[in-house]
Amino acid sequence: MSTHPETNGLSFRQSVDHMVDKAVKIMNLDPHVASAIKACASVLQVTFPVKIKGEIEMFTGWRAVHSVHRLPSKGGIRYATSVDQMEVEALAALMTYKCAIVDVPFGGSKGGLFINPHDYTRDELQQITRRFARELAEKGFLSPATNVPAPDMGTGQREMAWIADTYKHLNPDDINHIACVTGKPVAHGGIRGRTEATGRGIQYALQEFFRHPDEVKSAGFKGNLGGKTAVVQGLGNVGYHAAKFLSEEDDVKIIAIIEYDGAIINEDGIQVEQAYLHKNETGSIKGFAGTKFLADGRKGLELECDILIPAALEGVIDETNAHNIKAKLIAEAANGPVTFEADQILQKKGIVILPDAYMNAGGVIVSYFEWIRNLTHIRFGRLERRFDEARGQHIVHALEAMHNTPVPDWVQKELVRGADEFDLVRSGLDDSMRLALQEIIETANRDSNIHDYRTAAYVIALSKLSRTYLDVGVY
Ligand code: NAD
Repeated sequence: MSTHPETNGLSFRQSVDHMVDKAVKIMNLDPHVASAIKACASVLQVTFPVKIKGEIEMFTGWRAVHSVHRLPSKGGIRYATSVDQMEVEALAALMTYKCAIVDVPFGGSKGGLFINPHDYTRDELQQITRRFARELAEKGFLSPATNVPAPDMGTGQREMAWIADTYKHLNPDDINHIACVTGKPVAHGGIRGRTEATGRGIQYALQEFFRHPDEVKSAGFKGNLGGKTAVVQGLGNVGYHAAKFLSEEDDVKIIAIIEYDGAIINEDGIQVEQAYLHKNETGSIKGFAGTKFLADGRKGLELECDILIPAALEGVIDETNAHNIKAKLIAEAANGPVTFEADQILQKKGIVILPDAYMNAGGVIVSYFEWIRNLTHIRFGRLERRFDEARGQHIVHALEAMHNTPVPDWVQKELVRGADEFDLVRSGLDDSMRLALQEIIETANRDSNIHDYRTAAYVIALSKLSRTYLDVGVY
């Protein structure tokens, strides 16, 4: 098995397996059941030609299906030059565990295309994406019933719209064609709140963590989330939204942002929105007003802070830098940012980790809502919103009649307002993130052999998965 380029030791896939094995051992899970759960069910590799600027270029992509105990299998498609079969398999496995942890009834899958999207124009990317989607659909790896991709590193709403449209042309009589992919633009069957869902989920998870005083104390914190300092790696979809919401709504001070070409630092706090605009305009965070620039971005991970949020890519904290990490809490927004070896070191140092398989589940939770919306062919809240508003108005009238005094404006506003799709999505996401962390904390505290939230999360995932495998029967 090859090793991952980012780490000296285990491959990404081995790293995930080792972490899962810790839970298997604690649970005393039948090794055969564990092997069945851990195995990747199938993986497709495709190589296809696309004519770019008059020349034929070959592209290679993968789609791994880790589990099919629930259908469809779900997971993003990433465009990056780090992509290989091993990475896609590791990410597909994480999807299986993630869905089980947050109770989303999907199997786990993941796809990737070996490409640097910045090397191509929009039209070229459209051509490449449509061709990739055709390969996936023709080989049974894209369909609303069995395999549903979503955005990941290097892809977004635009690519999802192209994939959906390609599938529709190939399957004109599939009435649910729009559900073949999630993370689409709202005008093309997407759901409000999906783009920022993963970052929003990070915020909700941290809010929930700080509602548990004993956990907060054991992590070495005093007080609540407000006023804490954070370092964020990756100002892409996940990192930008997490940093924006935490700083603007929870008073978290973002003291450093790390990107592929260095880090910007301001101990008084960075204006995330402005930094994001600067990055979009110039292609880099470098030179953002009022910040110091650190050319060795990796060193930024070692800055003194309360919360470290790696939100870029896997393997960034390994055995070479884990000893130098000074954060009290690591919120794993990216998939696999901490290697197995680093995890051991960080635990010994007493650094608490909120694991990826839970932390970044916001994306798949809202993807689940989008998929349901697509299958029901109706926007959430469409039927009941005005009815709820009318009922709220009746309550206001009744209160006024009973007390012979007007209901204050703010109460009236709250009572009379019916929930729209955005409210419902946020409520469902918040609820899912809260419940999952409560279960993780409870599990960690129930069993004295469990010393970390990651193992607790995997114990939860494995017990749900093994129950399903045993109920259905492995044949
Ligand atoms: P993205 O492509 O939108 O953003 C990634 C950001 O990281 C970019 O700004 C990029 O410049 C930066 N980056 C790349 N290499 C870097 C390096 N070496 N150091 C620092 N920064 C670097 O991707 P994303 O969708 O935000 O995904 C980020 C991570 O979150 C990935 O691990 C992904 O699998 C995970 N994730 C994403 C979603 C989602 O909904 N998008 C859901 C779950 C998990």
